[in-house]
Amino acid sequence: MKLIKEEDIKMVDFKIVDINGQFRHVTIPASQFTVDTMKDGIGFDASNYGYAVVEKSDMVFIPDLDTAVMDPYCEISTLSITGNAMIIDYPENRPLDQYPRNIVRAAENYMKDSGIADTMLILPEFEFHMFDDAAWSVKPYEISANLDTEQAYWNSDSQGQGNVVAHQKHYHMAKPFDGTYECRSEMCLELEKMGIEIKYHHPEVGAAGQFEIEPMLGQMSKMADASMMIKYVIHNTALKYGKVATFMPKPVYGEAGNGMHVHMLLLKDGKPVFSDDEGYSHLSREAHYFIGGLLKHIASLCALTNPSTNSFKRLVPGFEAPVTVGYATSNRSAVIRIPAYAKTPELRRFEIRNPDATCNPYLCYAAILMAGLDGIKNKIDPEKNGWGPYDMNLYSLSDKEKAKLTQLPTRLDDALDALEADHDYLTAGGVFPLHLIENFIALKRKECLQLAAIPHPGEFDRYFNL
Ligand code: GLN
Ligand code: MG
Ligand code: MG
Ligand code: MG
Repeated sequence: MKLIKEEDIKMVDFKIVDINGQFRHVTIPASQFTVDTMKDGIGFDASNYGYAVVEKSDMVFIPDLDTAVMDPYCEISTLSITGNAMIIDYPENRPLDQYPRNIVRAAENYMKDSGIADTMLILPEFEFHMFDDAAWSVKPYEISANLDTEQAYWNSDSQGQGNVVAHQKHYHMAKPFDGTYECRSEMCLELEKMGIEIKYHHPEVGAAGQFEIEPMLGQMSKMADASMMIKYVIHNTALKYGKVATFMPKPVYGEAGNGMHVHMLLLKDGKPVFSDDEGYSHLSREAHYFIGGLLKHIASLCALTNPSTNSFKRLVPGFEAPVTVGYATSNRSAVIRIPAYAKTPELRRFEIRNPDATCNPYLCYAAILMAGLDGIKNKIDPEKNGWGPYDMNLYSLSDKEKAKLTQLPTRLDDALDALEADHDYLTAGGVFPLHLIENFIALKRKECLQLAAIPHPGEFDRYFNL
């Protein structure tokens, strides 16, 4: 209330998360924002948010004041707040168990109750493309679908200034070949103002304007909120600079896709659970079991960490995206990479490389934690299961060698099959409600069917002249 007066704030914007991890918003005049609004919230109709309708869709949104920040993209002075969704009930409202923010907290509580750890720190890496407005009027997939050469035909001048960067040669390129430095710096400064610490930003491999922003390690549920804001800021700042930002996992055929690798480590009473000087890559037994849990459930996890049909166009050999179920130090072709540079005990960790930012970050992180805890509880040893460590390039294996290894699902439908068969690790302790999982599978099945029915540009290349 003090801030509203001091900053002369005119509107208060409530940002609500839907099942796909996209912000929806409802805005009230600041004059209507009272102590009662903070306590009792505001009613809204959640019928279009994608949640299972087992419950009534009249809900209440309770703002979480810790998330209040100024929204830099509104011309009218606006305070932005995210929060939680409650089901209206008598005499007391109940938390909507399917609401992503509630699930990530439930997963953290489940971890605390297990006695294994009290904190999970994560660092999600955000890769994205920015296209010029003008270039966007020609859809990248229309120019790039050449099945014979598997080459992107768009050696783009993503900066629009004549400095063409060659195919797959954009990684960490300095000015003048980095034409969006100011735009990305502004993204990072806006995020810092919102209290989100930034590690760095840089150009990524792809030629057609691919970039990356990484925040610092942070507590899982906070990082889930931060992930929503990072995507919001990237989308909106890009627009200010006349660009269109996309997190689509594979927007350009034949070029590097956009991942959202997630680094992770556990703490108990402030001490790192994953560190052991004697272990492989300085990781403890617990860390190995955690990895075991992730790899055991990886096919089912993909339904939540890679929930679009496009996700699986990224998970192909040759572009530093994982294809094989395995782990190793410094190996970018495996699902789990242990960074060789994370040497101090407090930083010892690993990253899971298959996720992409079309996921709902809350569900993605909660699912990762639940799979890892299942691994620790059941002592799932990744080495004994034959998942590594693999210190070789998994893209260039012979067919015979490959046949011995497990590969990631290659289609969303396969990941959904896996989730259908394997979800007890998610529903453990009531963390993921079963009706959410069933509803999510049904929604995604429908999406698969709809997209499979659309004639694909690559089909024209293959079939038009037959
Ligand atoms: N873009 C790659 C991916 O899809 C990662 C490349 C990198 O970070 N070096 O995961
Ligand atoms: Mg990175
Ligand atoms: Mg990267
Ligand atoms: Mg990474």
